[in-house]
Amino acid sequence: MATLDAMDILISGASVGGPALAYWLERYGHNVTVVEVTPGFRPGGQAIDVRGPALEVASRMGVLDEIRRHKVQMRGMSVVDDDGKEVYRSEEHTLTGGDLASADIEILRDDLSQIFVRAVGDRVEYLLGDTVTAIDQDDSGARVTFATAAPRTFDLVVGADGLHSNTRRLVFGPESQFIEYMGTYLAVWTIPNYLELDRWQVFHQIPGDSWGGGVMSVRGNSEARVYMGFESEEPIAYDYRDIPSQKRILRERLGGFGWELPRMLDHMEDAEDFHFDPMAQIRMDTWSQGRVVLLGDAGYCGSPLSGQGTSMAMVGAYVLAGEIKEAGGDHRTALAAYEREMRDYVKGNQDLAFTNRERFEAQQSGVEFAGPAVGDVVNAITLKDY
Ligand SMILES: Cc1cc2nc3c(=O)[nH]c(=O)nc-3n(C[C@H](O)[C@H](O)[C@H](O)COP(=O)(O)OP(=O)(O)OC[C@H]3O[C@@H](n4cnc5c(N)ncnc54)[C@H](O)[C@@H]3O)c2cc1C
Repeated sequence: MATLDAMDILISGASVGGPALAYWLERYGHNVTVVEVTPGFRPGGQAIDVRGPALEVASRMGVLDEIRRHKVQMRGMSVVDDDGKEVYRSEEHTLTGGDLASADIEILRDDLSQIFVRAVGDRVEYLLGDTVTAIDQDDSGARVTFATAAPRTFDLVVGADGLHSNTRRLVFGPESQFIEYMGTYLAVWTIPNYLELDRWQVFHQIPGDSWGGGVMSVRGNSEARVYMGFESEEPIAYDYRDIPSQKRILRERLGGFGWELPRMLDHMEDAEDFHFDPMAQIRMDTWSQGRVVLLGDAGYCGSPLSGQGTSMAMVGAYVLAGEIKEAGGDHRTALAAYEREMRDYVKGNQDLAFTNRERFEAQQSGVEFAGPAVGDVVNAITLKDY
């Protein structure tokens, strides 16, 4: 193995991939700065899944027990009609988490993010409420300018800034080149657990199977997270930073439907963690250009339909940091190896997005699903010991 040269590394984005990568890079002796556009760490998001090799990554980080303690611990789910009458019930699987008997851990995105941030501690520098405005790179380094902080030069810049990655736009080009819209929008926000759900989730499908809304109790039933979605053949033109206009869009699309949807939309007006995005994937031929590399949703978003965005970001963080270590600081070798290790795993997991919906529909109608086994796909990478 080559000897390690400590590098100055900038990570853009402090959700899941960013802090996980910061943990590993700092542990390997690098100087890490994380820039996050949200002034504090960003709240919100639905329960997401940590599966297969991502559980092993968590274990190697020493945070697996803490992640288990924050598990959402669902008992099951119901589907209800317009009047709230139960038309389907399962204590074996849920819409958000899949098979309840599996070893997967379903955890709120913001809880997982905070576990990683705590694991990193104050050993890395955070620039909160700031963003990169330009990256100019050559053989000697990447000069980065920020909206607020003074310009600096880094050996490596990692974009872990999500579906609408700023890093990707600055270095690789407009989002439209890489995004594959999947015909659905999804919103998530916190409400009081006024339905008094006990570790339970309820889903209401709107007529015509054009989606609907659900709610699940979280954090020991002390609150609940709503998820609502609708189909739209064409992408909607909206500003992904303009929350009030996103809330208006959701109300226009779903305000006229039954069950508790109108009441949950009323609670949406006060929600401070409202999140709205298209179901979409990012597909790119390469995730790096010179000294800039993409991690997680920024480079290979799988969409919530894949259920694998979080695991891919965690595994990607482990592999990227490990390959940087193994290459002794030679970023070209490291970034090429990162792509080689991750490509097939990412492709398989992105493809899951298209079979998961069919699987859920088959379960609902009691039909055996003939597609690929989820377990084979989510485990399709062997973690090296770096
Ligand atoms: C608020 C929120 C809610 C989500 N809800 C769900 C959900 O309900 N279901 C689901 O499957 N997935 C959801 N996701 C996506 C999910 O977190 C990812 O698929 C997965 O965890 C991989 O994470 P990531 O770190 O690659 O990207 P993300 O989790 O998307 O994180 C990107 C981070 O980059 C930050 N960022 C954005 N722009 C900039 C910028 N210009 N400069 C610096 N930082 C920037 C964001 O604020 C965020 O902290 C959500 C993400 C967010 C941010």
